[in-house]
Amino acid sequence: MNDLIEKLDPEIDCDKEGCGYTEKTKYELLKEFINKRCPKCGSNLLTLDDYLDMVQVVDFVDNLNTLLSPLIKDEPETDEGTVIYVKMHNGKNIANN
Ligand SMILES: [Zn+2]
Repeated sequence: MNDLIEKLDPEIDCDKEGCGYTEKTKYELLKEFINKRCPKCGSNLLTLDDYLDMVQVVDFVDNLNTLLSPLIKDEPETDEGTVIYVKMHNGKNIANN
């Protein structure tokens, strides 16, 4: 069964202006990035607050998928949809570009 909201692998982005460092990871490995220094500029890659906010978003998505699963259980899986990016830092930005 497919989920209404599919979670793609998270990406750690350095927030220091002009740095541009990014690293793909898995949700189960995010905790390892808490207070880890950017290998390019030395900035903090993931604060504890940002990590805890991300955990709340992921829990919300999981709960929403569970609640809505009876509505889509017989629907065929497709690649249709809209990608929404959630950036957990200074304002919890959400964008679909
Ligand atoms: Zn950096």
